[in-house]
Amino acid sequence: MAHIVVVGAGIVGLATAARLTRAGHVVTVLDKERAVATHQTGRNSGVMHSGLYYAPGSLKAAMAVAGQRSMLAFARERGIAARVTGKLVVASRPEQVEGLHTLAGRAVDNGVPAQLVDRAGAREKEPHVAGVEALWVSSTGIVDYPGVCRALADDVRDGGGRVALGARLVAARDTGSTVRVRVATDDGRSELRADALVACAGLQADRVARACEIEPEARIVPFRGEYFELTPAKAALVRGLVYPVPDPRFPFLGVHLTRTVTGCVHVGPNAVLALAREGYTWHDVVPADVADAFTWPGLWHLAARNLVPGSREVVRSLDRRAFARSVAELLPGVRAENLVPAPAGVRAQALRRDGRLVDDFLIQSTERQVHVLNAPSPAATCALEIAAHITEQLAL
Ligand SMILES: Cc1cc2nc3c(=O)[nH]c(=O)nc-3n(C[C@H](O)[C@H](O)[C@H](O)COP(=O)(O)OP(=O)(O)OC[C@H]3O[C@@H](n4cnc5c(N)ncnc54)[C@H](O)[C@@H]3O)c2cc1C
Repeated sequence: MAHIVVVGAGIVGLATAARLTRAGHVVTVLDKERAVATHQTGRNSGVMHSGLYYAPGSLKAAMAVAGQRSMLAFARERGIAARVTGKLVVASRPEQVEGLHTLAGRAVDNGVPAQLVDRAGAREKEPHVAGVEALWVSSTGIVDYPGVCRALADDVRDGGGRVALGARLVAARDTGSTVRVRVATDDGRSELRADALVACAGLQADRVARACEIEPEARIVPFRGEYFELTPAKAALVRGLVYPVPDPRFPFLGVHLTRTVTGCVHVGPNAVLALAREGYTWHDVVPADVADAFTWPGLWHLAARNLVPGSREVVRSLDRRAFARSVAELLPGVRAENLVPAPAGVRAQALRRDGRLVDDFLIQSTERQVHVLNAPSPAATCALEIAAHITEQLAL
């Protein structure tokens, strides 16, 4: 039996902590916030992805199909709101059909149940959505991720562990026989001794790694995803999940329509550079975060390659009519007045020095430490699988 400190009470940290607890270890979870799931996990689309998009051979592809099943099973077992809705990926214009067919091939490679449907077939699934052709993916669903996190935190506590909220990791040092972890709370500073440390710190992952004397392979760049909610009359036109064909040059899936577990329909997220790691509006600006992003050569390489689409995203963020126009490609007739602002999320996207976005999950380990340095979508879907992977890496 070992004592393990897990940094981060998002879904990846809590799934790992619960798994380690089940394996008989004593776990202390630290999170700087006062509630679980405060950042990415509590501000996402709430979708259990099917595994459709990911490059064969990647961790994402390997974990998503299993992750969707294990997440659904966990939610059902614990009485957490979840539903398999299926999703429709829609080619709105003829030039998107080739991309749609590529996606259909990917589905076959990844073992995801998906079926191409013509315009009439698409209308059977979503009568009010416009498109020339579509891909119906039956296994995609929705779930209450914060609810999953609360259940996982209960498992840690019930197994004798601790979930310490308002507790920030300041630094950690591997002494060879133990990891000394310095923690700051409202009551001051203290030190914990652990046999191992697992860091799942999302938007702060690279900084936490450095604070633990691990040099991260990439830097986190925050991309905000803004959402609106459809007004009830328009929301009634959407049955489940409707996605555009993603642009293969970007890691994000494009603005989509999501009927959530609470019954409302969200549209979004877009993707704009955030001026604070935890910056949920344009008014949130943290100079140190801005400096961190703009002194990283990778950001300049990325910006140079994506000037036009990047500017378009900024316009779509600042002009609700532009946002409405992109939604109307999927759901004709949507106008700015049908969109009510909803809380945004910020994606922790790892970016390499040369400007390449880290596409797959990235986990860096030493003998006593595991750092999750890139866990973007579909990491919420895959959280129970990532937890199993981390547990294996720890070799306790
Ligand atoms: C807009 C958006 C939409 C998305 N949609 C989906 C989706 O539909 N389906 C899906 O599968 N995935 C989706 N994702 C991705 C998914 O939300 C993330 O992959 C997942 O939540 C990552 O979980 P995490 O635990 O790694 O990070 P987080 O949930 O961000 O948790 C990290 C935690 O670490 C804590 N922390 C940081 N630094 C410290 C420190 N020094 N000391 C203590 N605590 C610290 C933070 O407070 C935070 O609570 C989406 C993400 C976004 C942003």
